[in-house]
Amino acid sequence: MSTIFTKIINKEIPAAIVYEDDQVLAFRDIDPKAPEHILVIPKKEIPTVNDIDEADAALVGQLFLAAKKIAKELGFADNGYRLVMNCNEDGGQTVHHIHMHILAGRRLNWPPG
Ligand code: 5GP
Repeated sequence: MSTIFTKIINKEIPAAIVYEDDQVLAFRDIDPKAPEHILVIPKKEIPTVNDIDEADAALVGQLFLAAKKIAKELGFADNGYRLVMNCNEDGGQTVHHIHMHILAGRRLNWPPG
């Protein structure tokens, strides 16, 4: 089932896009949890990490490569950042279209609450 992220991919609703290629889109989170909070998503609809297939392996790799590029371009690669993917209810997933959170711009606590 489609989510709000499909509407962002299709430019039906606005988002602050920081990166786009033919397979991946990245945009600023509407409710940031850190000074820099970006969501990196595949354009393909995959609801949760549980739904990733072997055939998606390269696509999932593209999410990491996009995150790395974004971190460099936005200038926080050297200071550091956190990549997070939440899965289902206990993981805190609210949008069922897989997304990698990039969090940066402050010292992040570990472990998360
Ligand atoms: P999750 O909780 O599923 O891991 O993360 C979903 C994220 O999507 C949340 O951090 C939430 O703030 C963000 N989000 C939800 N709806 C929108 C939206 O319409 N636009 C943007 N830019 N972010 C959204």
